[in-house]
Amino acid sequence: TEKTSNAAEKMSNATEKTEEDEKEDKAAQSLLNKLIRNNLVNTTNQVEVLQRDPNSPLYSVKSFEELRLKPQLLQGVYAMGFNRPSKIQETALPMMLAEPSQNLIAQSQSGTGKTAAFVLAMLSRINAANTYPQCLCLSPTYELALQTGKVIEQMGKFYPELKLAYAVRGNRLERGHKLQEQIVIGTPGTVLDWCSKLRFIDPKKIKVFVLDEADVMIATQGHQDQSIRIQRMLTKDCQMLLFSATFEDSVWRFAQKVVPEPNIIKLKREEETLDTIKQFYVLCSNREEKFLALCNIYGSITIAQAMIFCHTRKTASWLAGELSKEGHQVAVLSGEMMVEQRAAVIDRFRDGKEKVLVTTNVCARGIDVEQVSIVINFDLPVDKDGNPDNETYLHRIGRTGRFGKRGIAVNMIDSNHSMSILKQIEQHFKKPIVKLDPDDIDEIE
Ligand code: ADP
Repeated sequence: TEKTSNAAEKMSNATEKTEEDEKEDKAAQSLLNKLIRNNLVNTTNQVEVLQRDPNSPLYSVKSFEELRLKPQLLQGVYAMGFNRPSKIQETALPMMLAEPSQNLIAQSQSGTGKTAAFVLAMLSRINAANTYPQCLCLSPTYELALQTGKVIEQMGKFYPELKLAYAVRGNRLERGHKLQEQIVIGTPGTVLDWCSKLRFIDPKKIKVFVLDEADVMIATQGHQDQSIRIQRMLTKDCQMLLFSATFEDSVWRFAQKVVPEPNIIKLKREEETLDTIKQFYVLCSNREEKFLALCNIYGSITIAQAMIFCHTRKTASWLAGELSKEGHQVAVLSGEMMVEQRAAVIDRFRDGKEKVLVTTNVCARGIDVEQVSIVINFDLPVDKDGNPDNETYLHRIGRTGRFGKRGIAVNMIDSNHSMSILKQIEQHFKKPIVKLDPDDIDEIE
């Protein structure tokens, strides 16, 4: 029913469509991040902590042993290959495991260990001998719920009695059924039905309530209200935990509504800079010349891996075709691909199976590839009004020159207009973008 009502809304209100599209993108982006992530994001920033009771001591742990976990849970953690807590886990875990239980609102970018943290908190609070739901976790979409479910299964694999239920659309149970599973993970609409109308879950018995991806959640029609209604059915003693990758005002207002008396943890994301990147531009007169310039660059310097950005799908597939004819192994990433397909392309590129990734804007956020030594803007990033998109420029270029290496960025210019955009980007970042003679590329190195 969630789906049909969404569709009806879209039809009745055409102006909302673009907004809806963007919302779907948020969930898709988040799923893509999860699918391609296989380790922690590096961070050198310190966590910021705001304690509900500023006088209580603040614990932080450097090892999982210090948490005094049940042996089978510690075993599960080590079986996942975790050696020590991530930056956010160092503070969040002792806080979440403390007695009596405390509520928590935590924000840090994707890949910093939030999911692993709350899964561990849920597992440490269940009594596997009791066969009724004790932990409830809300996710914005079915696919994201499945991803979290996988982590629960992995980390809980030494609990033979542990069972997990998915409260998602399409999962129909007989009337009068009582869930035996200790952990329920699902989307707000279905969870609400299961807690109220259908009474599959007794909300009064829930000990831990997790709201994951709060920023994606509130971007989805109806999820905010449903989450609040679920939260109201829980007891005062239920531990409430909320996680979000970003923290704009709307997320913060929602967080305060569903998590009373919280501790708050924030981890700033690593700043992207252009400091370690040499930026160039090449003057051309059309896309064929841009392609020739690209070939010249390839002919003159050694490139481990390159990412090439185009403005449209059409240019991207044309360029990929031309590069293949030249004998390059090329991967293409574009907007019409399913999230799973995109993840597969990114994985292959990261494994080095292809050396060139040609992509449009939409799908390239959040890809870190250590070997990417050069980023090429075949088209400069512009917003929908044709103005320079500085943020996207930084995101694109910031991919190279990571992990202390120096990176190279080359911008292809084919008109006065794109030249003027380049100048504006240069002024914005106050870092020189140097002209490159396409016949004499050696100056790059
Ligand atoms: P988030 O929920 O913030 O996106 P995750 O919990 O999914 O982050 O963690 C990101 C990645 O890092 C996952 O592949 C996860 O298995 C791994 N990971 C999480 N915690 C640790 C840890 N303490 N040590 C090593 N890897 C970890």
